[in-house]
Amino acid sequence: MEDGLPDASSDLRSPLTRRERLLVLILVALAPLLACVVICYYAAGRTERREAAIAANIIVSEVSAIVEVARSAMLTIVPHADYPCEKLLPDLAVKAATAPYVRTINVIKGDVVFCSSAFGKLSIPLSTFMPDIGHERGGEWMALVGMTPMVPERQALVIGKPAAGGRAVMAVIDGRYLLDLMRAAAPLDMYRQAELRFAGSPPLDGARMATPLDESSLLVNTRKVTASGAFELRIYGLRERWRATFIALMLRDMPWAVALSALLVWLVWRLQNSRSSRREQLLRGIRANEFHVEYQPLYGVSAGHCDGAEALLRWVRPEFGEVRPGEFITAAEDEHVIVPLTQHLLKLIARDFATMDVRPGFHLSINFSPEHLSSEKLTDDVNALLETVSKNRPQIVMEITERTLIKNTEQAQRNLEALRDKGVKVAIDDFGTGYCSLTYLEHFPLDLLKIDRGFVLTIEPGTTRAVVLDAIIDLALSLDAQLVAEGVETMAQFDYLCARGVGFVQGYLYAKSMTADAFAQWYRTLGSQPLAAVTVTSAQ
Ligand code: C2E
Ligand code: CA
Ligand code: CA
Repeated sequence: MEDGLPDASSDLRSPLTRRERLLVLILVALAPLLACVVICYYAAGRTERREAAIAANIIVSEVSAIVEVARSAMLTIVPHADYPCEKLLPDLAVKAATAPYVRTINVIKGDVVFCSSAFGKLSIPLSTFMPDIGHERGGEWMALVGMTPMVPERQALVIGKPAAGGRAVMAVIDGRYLLDLMRAAAPLDMYRQAELRFAGSPPLDGARMATPLDESSLLVNTRKVTASGAFELRIYGLRERWRATFIALMLRDMPWAVALSALLVWLVWRLQNSRSSRREQLLRGIRANEFHVEYQPLYGVSAGHCDGAEALLRWVRPEFGEVRPGEFITAAEDEHVIVPLTQHLLKLIARDFATMDVRPGFHLSINFSPEHLSSEKLTDDVNALLETVSKNRPQIVMEITERTLIKNTEQAQRNLEALRDKGVKVAIDDFGTGYCSLTYLEHFPLDLLKIDRGFVLTIEPGTTRAVVLDAIIDLALSLDAQLVAEGVETMAQFDYLCARGVGFVQGYLYAKSMTADAFAQWYRTLGSQPLAAVTVTSAQ
């Protein structure tokens, strides 16, 4: 701070620490991997349920078909069920032998099986194999029984229908058919258990079944109603199989997740580096003194000579050459280096003006970014400049562009009011090109309006009226603001603007920007000359 201006390096910290950057990289690396695990976890469950549903569909429709076949065979006997057994037998035998899946067809009288397709006339109480279910209920019935008197080692599905004379017809389906079907569609190496239950009876193959079963492993639970009664099918999954599916999915998808993770890490790392390097480059440029200021003269129309200059920052990088101001100013704003950069600019201006001899009231225009304007540092920074240039005090003009929005307008207002009290003037730069022109007029005290080059360009030789430009001029005059026209390149533009009361003109017609030394030299020789003399001299 030997020259009274703040030290720019105090603001030059990176927005993220190294640890935070590393943490971001770790999170970015983990995100796709975790997402892959979660997706595979749920996908494995979905795959299991989908496959079990297909198996269940096959079982249910096949069981329904078997029941229907047996029932049709049984129904052909029902109308003649009151015949004596001898007369029924040939029919019973043919039906039982020709109907698929059917083991026997029997006729029941009261509670006793009295005629069987396989054994002829007999007398076996129903209660010996069907303790709970009786045909006396009235309607059709269906039950899974643990054994039948003739085949005690196997389960059987019995379906029946009452007939005239207190009789009933009953078809017996061997449980083995159902079991084989179940094993084929839902094998035990794929599923923990498949349960087929018929109205209240214990399940098919119940003796083998593992109990109790964890309900969370239930994959399918379906119920089917047939003319003979309803049955239910449940399929439970195997933990090992789910695990195998999960691993298979992970093996398929994980390489992609790893690749995505690597790509993201690389992108974020590059972004981090390019951001920090852009920031670093600007900071190194400040430290290595690669910036300098050029001054573009401002012509005072009523004074008839040079009445000021705009300070424009320049960056010449030793290895790359000149960087366009639009480019590095935007980068500095994005990387939040604009405040230290402007503080550096103020130092450079203070150094240039320490030896510059200018007329009293000379306007020295300096561009300030919105971030700086809303910062509490602004007044100190400008005051420091005012103190250093007090010997040959130029009139400081702060140019605020309205291309970028000012966020903290209250702080900005306070700053501008404090600085105006110190004699600083405020100019709205690029007026009419942003989206907040009128808001700015309402919020900020202003002394000058800078008409953007775009509006000046609407003046062509012979133009008598440029609607928007005229409106801006009228607006400025009604606000008592002085007008500066930027980018004036032709005499036609100059004459048009002067005729409408524009007080200052800046542009290539009068002079381009030049280094401090060149400007000092130019100012000594041409600074007091009228525009016509300057343009003639420049043209030579
Ligand atoms: P600006 O503030 O509108 O500056 C005027 C720009 O118009 C300058 O470009 C100047 O060289 C150019 N110019 C002047 N007269 C004419 C003309 O007759 N014809 C044409 N075609 N152009 C003319 P430059 O120096 O490239 O600056 C571009 C922008 O960069 C500036 O626009 C300003 O927004 C920004 N900038 C430059 N220096 C600084 C600075 O120190 N601080 C901040 N915050 N921004 C700066
Ligand atoms: Ca400007
Ligand atoms: Ca401008």
